[in-house]
Amino acid sequence: MKKCFCIIFLLLPGHRVFCWGFYMHEKINYHAVFLLPPPMMILFKPNIGFLSEHAVDPDKRRYMVASEGAHHFLDIDHYGTYPFASLPRDYDAAIQKFTIDSIRKYGVVPWWIQVMLGRLTRAFREKDKQSILKYAAELGHYIADAHVPLHVCSNHNGQLTHQEGIHAFWESRVPELFAESEWDFYIGKASYIPDPAGFIWARVLESAAAADTVLRCEKEISAGYRPDRKYAFEERKGKLVKQYSSGYATLFEFRLNHMVERRMRQSIFSVASFWYTAWVNAGQPALDKLNHDSLSLSEKKEYEKLNLEWKNGKIICRDCGDR
Ligand SMILES: [Zn+2]
Repeated sequence: MKKCFCIIFLLLPGHRVFCWGFYMHEKINYHAVFLLPPPMMILFKPNIGFLSEHAVDPDKRRYMVASEGAHHFLDIDHYGTYPFASLPRDYDAAIQKFTIDSIRKYGVVPWWIQVMLGRLTRAFREKDKQSILKYAAELGHYIADAHVPLHVCSNHNGQLTHQEGIHAFWESRVPELFAESEWDFYIGKASYIPDPAGFIWARVLESAAAADTVLRCEKEISAGYRPDRKYAFEERKGKLVKQYSSGYATLFEFRLNHMVERRMRQSIFSVASFWYTAWVNAGQPALDKLNHDSLSLSEKKEYEKLNLEWKNGKIICRDCGDR
């Protein structure tokens, strides 16, 4: 086959864009494990492979469940301007004010994180090993999504400002280029979060404030950059792929004052702190001897189905577009 037939344009509108990229979701959960105290490490460290691998299950689920997409984002600018005071932070008050259909249409990530925190806390309380690992892995995913500026912005892929592709540029291309070789993941220790709702809304507002910066900065550097140097063709898994050049990505991250690295570090800290908070709120159960410590047949089948749908399917979420 001629090479030109193998070219994949990663930047075309409509291309599927995964949250933080699969690679980065796995990394965020992986690094979060090292912030935990020893009584949690005893369970989480030996299962670091599961926690990393299943960090991406919520994205895979979007191929099976139409309602899943809303869990990954919040178009907060739909509710006015910063700090978006017209949007009640309490879910019941929000649906009372805007209706449940409207709230789901514009995304529910900060509320969904609180639901997942409740599920993880219950799993700790019940000492259910498989549920602890499943909910910890998935909670990590949604928390990481809330840290991505373009997950908290209706112009989520630059589609309103002729910057299509910027979503994957920020959350996949930049970290894949620099995370392993240049970024520092020594972050310290997880902290107990006394007010999880307040904590996650603060992170969402940080992301919302950063979204304008991301879009403006890319626009500015694009205007002064030679178009033929903005993109490059690189081989990826045996295919030639068009993507933002490493030089352009370096300038972008520099002009953002290393925002992508800072948000990734904050994501890791937040994930570990939510895990730790769930464990404390469950009464700090001993994790060395747990019930239900291997996958049941139905759980194995469920994971197999998830992978199959993801490999074969199309996203069936109505409203989430390229997220
Ligand atoms: Zn996601």
